Amino acid sequence: MVPVFPIGKNPLQSLISGVSRPDKSPIRHLTDTPPTGDTFTTPTKAQLQALQAVSLGDDVYNESHTTIAFEKRMAELFGKEAGIFVVSGTMGNQLSIRVLLAQPPHAVLCDHRGHLINYEAGGLGLMTQAMTQSVIPSNGKYLILEDIKKVAVISDDIHACPTKVISLENTLGGVVMPLEEVQRVGKWARENGMHMHLDGARIWNAVSNYETMEEQLEKMKAYAKEFDTLTACFSKGIGAPVGSIIVSSQSIINRVRHFRKAIGGGIRQAGVLTVMANAAIEEVFLAGKLRETHEKARRIAEFWVKECGGKLEHEVETNMVWLDLNHAHIGDKEFEEEAFKDGIKVLGWGRIVVHWQISDNAVKRLLKVLSGLKKRADMRIAAGEHGNGGIESGYGR
Ligand SMILES: *Cc1c(COP(=O)(O)O)cnc(C)c1O
Repeated sequence: MVPVFPIGKNPLQSLISGVSRPDKSPIRHLTDTPPTGDTFTTPTKAQLQALQAVSLGDDVYNESHTTIAFEKRMAELFGKEAGIFVVSGTMGNQLSIRVLLAQPPHAVLCDHRGHLINYEAGGLGLMTQAMTQSVIPSNGKYLILEDIKKVAVISDDIHACPTKVISLENTLGGVVMPLEEVQRVGKWARENGMHMHLDGARIWNAVSNYETMEEQLEKMKAYAKEFDTLTACFSKGIGAPVGSIIVSSQSIINRVRHFRKAIGGGIRQAGVLTVMANAAIEEVFLAGKLRETHEKARRIAEFWVKECGGKLEHEVETNMVWLDLNHAHIGDKEFEEEAFKDGIKVLGWGRIVVHWQISDNAVKRLLKVLSGLKKRADMRIAAGEHGNGGIESGYGR
C-alpha cells in the first residue's frame, strides 16, 4: 500500500497556498558562501505541491516508495547501479570515503582547497583515520594528473602511507574540471589500485555549460563513469531544502546504507524530502535554469572589470564570481557591510554566487554597490590613503 494524499486533501495544503513564487518573492541574497552555504534558495510552490502525492512509508524499512523511486532515478541519471539519499553533502562525502577505505595506513588525496578537508569539521579524520594528501593545482584552477602523481603514494614500504582514494571536486570554486583531465586521472587511479570519489555538489553547474540537455546528461554520465562514488547536492543551486545523493555500485550503496544508519542518518518518512528534491531537479536543472545563473555571474564579472576597472581572482566559468578585493583595496568587512546596507548578503572575501532565484533587480542592486565601493576605494587611493585594503580573514580562501 502506498499512502498518498489525494490532490487537494493534503493537510499541508494551507501551507502551500501561503507560499509566494520565487519570481515574486523579495530575493535579497546574492551569495552562497561557506559556512552559510548556498542555502539561500527557498522552496518553491512546485516543491511544496509535490508533497501532495508522496509515499509516507518509513525509509529505514525500505517502505518509502517515493525515496526508492527517486534514488533509482538519480542512479540512472548518472548511469550508476544504485543511489542513496543523505541529508547533506558532508554526510555523502564522508560515507562514500568511509566505505571506499578499509583500514589504516591509508591516505586520501584531494585538492588543497577541497570541501572534504576544509569544510567538513574534520570528519575525514573522525570517520576514517586517513592521512590527507592535499595537492596545489599547478595551473591554479584544477588538478591535473601530473600534480597528483607528484603527491600520491604508491608503495609497500613500511614508512609510507599509501594513497587509496583520489577525491576530486567539480566544480571547485566555480571552476570546471574538464572531462578529459578527469578521464586521465581515473585511468591512472585504476591502474594503480586507487579508488575515485567525486564531490559533485555542483556537478550540475559543471555540465550546464553544454548547449543541450541531452549533451548535459551525456556528460554527467561520462564524468560519473570515472568514479566509484559520486555525491551531488540538491540544497545548493538546485534549491531543495535538504539533501544529497550518493551514486555508486549496488554493493557500495548497500554498505553506505549500513554506515548511514550507524551515524544516525536513517530517515523515517524520507519521502517528504526526496519528493521535494525531485521537484527541484525538474524545475531547475532539467529546465535549464542553471545556465541563466552562469550568464548573470558573467554579467557581474564583466561589469566589475569593464565598468569599475576591477580585477577578478578567476575568470567566471559557472555561477561564481571572484572579485579581487585586495587588488581594489577594498576590505572584506567593508564589502560585507556596504552590500548589506543595500539588502545584499555577501560573506566578505569577494565571492559572489548566483543562484536561480536571484532576480535581475538584485543583480542591478549589486552592480550599484560594486560601483560605489570601487569609486570610494579609488578616491582613497588618489588621496594617498590605502584605507581598508587587505585581507581581514583568511577563512575560505
Ligand atoms: C556545500 C558543499 C558540500 C556539502 O555541504 P552540506 O552543507 O554538508 O550539504 C560538499 N561539497 C561542496 C563542494 C560543497 O560546496
